[in-house]
Amino acid sequence: MIADFEYFAPKTVEKALSLVSQYKEEAKIIAGGQSMLIIMKQGLLTPEYLIDIKGIAALDYIKYDEGKGLRIGALTIHRAIEKSPVIQKHFGVLSETERNLATTQTRNWGTIGGNLCHGDPAGDPAPVLIALKAKLKLASLGRERTIEVEEFSKDYLEVALEPDEMLIEIQVPIPPPHTGAAYEKLMVMKGDMGIVGAAVSITLSPGNGVCKDARIALSNCASIPLRAKEAEQVLVGKTINDSLLTKAGEVAAAETNPPVDVHGSAEYRREMVKVFVKRVARIALERAKVG
Ligand SMILES: Cc1cc2nc3c(=O)[nH]c(=O)nc-3n(C[C@H](O)[C@H](O)[C@H](O)COP(=O)(O)OP(=O)(O)OC[C@H]3O[C@@H](n4cnc5c(N)ncnc54)[C@H](O)[C@@H]3O)c2cc1C
Repeated sequence: MIADFEYFAPKTVEKALSLVSQYKEEAKIIAGGQSMLIIMKQGLLTPEYLIDIKGIAALDYIKYDEGKGLRIGALTIHRAIEKSPVIQKHFGVLSETERNLATTQTRNWGTIGGNLCHGDPAGDPAPVLIALKAKLKLASLGRERTIEVEEFSKDYLEVALEPDEMLIEIQVPIPPPHTGAAYEKLMVMKGDMGIVGAAVSITLSPGNGVCKDARIALSNCASIPLRAKEAEQVLVGKTINDSLLTKAGEVAAAETNPPVDVHGSAEYRREMVKVFVKRVARIALERAKVG
C-alpha cells in the first residue's frame, strides 16, 4: 500500500523547481514512476509531497548539433532514444543500449532522467554515458550546474542531487574521429537488468592505429556504475590485440566489488566482466577502425 501524499503536477520547470525548493526532503519527484512507484509500494519512500514532472513538455527533446553534440531532455522516454534517427546515426551505442533496456512498455513510459536519478548501479544508460564522456545539467531555482555522469552516482540508489535540484538535460559531446563505442550486458532474458554489463569507447590515432583514448565503464559491478580506469590504461598508447583485450578484462575484473544475489556470486560476476570487457572492447575497436 502507498502512504498518502499531496500531489502536484507542474507544467513548467520553474514551477517544479519552486515546489522542490519549497518542500525539499519532504518531497519526491516522480517522472515515469517505473522505479519510484515500486519503491513507494514497498514503503521504502513515503514522501509527503509528490511532484509529478511528466507533463513538463519542455524537458522532452532530442537535439543534435555538429558543434555542441547531443542534448537529451531529462523527460525523454527510453523508447524515443531507441528510435531516434539522429541517435541511431551518430550515437548508435545509445539506441542499441535502449533496445535491451526493460520491456517496450517500460521504455514507453520510463525516462532517461528517471533512470539516471534512480541511481541503480545495474542501470544501462549510466555506464554508456560515462564511456561517452557525457555530462548532466542540474538546476535549482536561479542556479544551474553541470556534472560529469561519472561523478553523479554516490552510492547504491544515491546520486549527487541536492534536495532542491532537478536533472534537466543529458549532454553528450561529439566523439573524436576514429572512435568506436559498444555496450553489452549479461541477461537471463532479453530486457532484464544486466547481471553485469560493460560499456567501452576506444579512440585510435589516425596514422598508426594506436589506442589514443579508452573508456571502460561497468554496470552492476559495484555500488555505483564503475569506471575501470586501470583497465583503460592497459589499452591506451598500445596497438590493441587480443591478448591486450584479455588483460584489460582481467584488470577490470580486479577493479570491481560486485554484488552477490540469486543471479551470481562475486566470483561469477568477475569472470563475466573478463568476458564482457574483452567482447565489447573488440566491437568498439572494430567500430573505431571505420569510425
Ligand atoms: C520491469 C522493469 C524492468 C527494467 N529493466 C531495466 C533495464 O534492463 N535496464 C535499466 O537500466 N533500467 C531498467 N529498469 C528501470 C527503468 O529504466 C527505470 O525505472 C526508468 O527509466 C525510470 O524512469 P522513470 O521516468 O520511470 O523514473 P521514476 O521512477 O519516476 O523516478 C526514478 C527516480 O528518479 C527521480 N527523478 C526522476 N526524474 C527526475 C529529474 N528529472 N530530476 C530529478 N530527479 C528525478 C525520482 O525522484 C526517483 O527517485 C526497469 C524497470 C522496470 C519496471
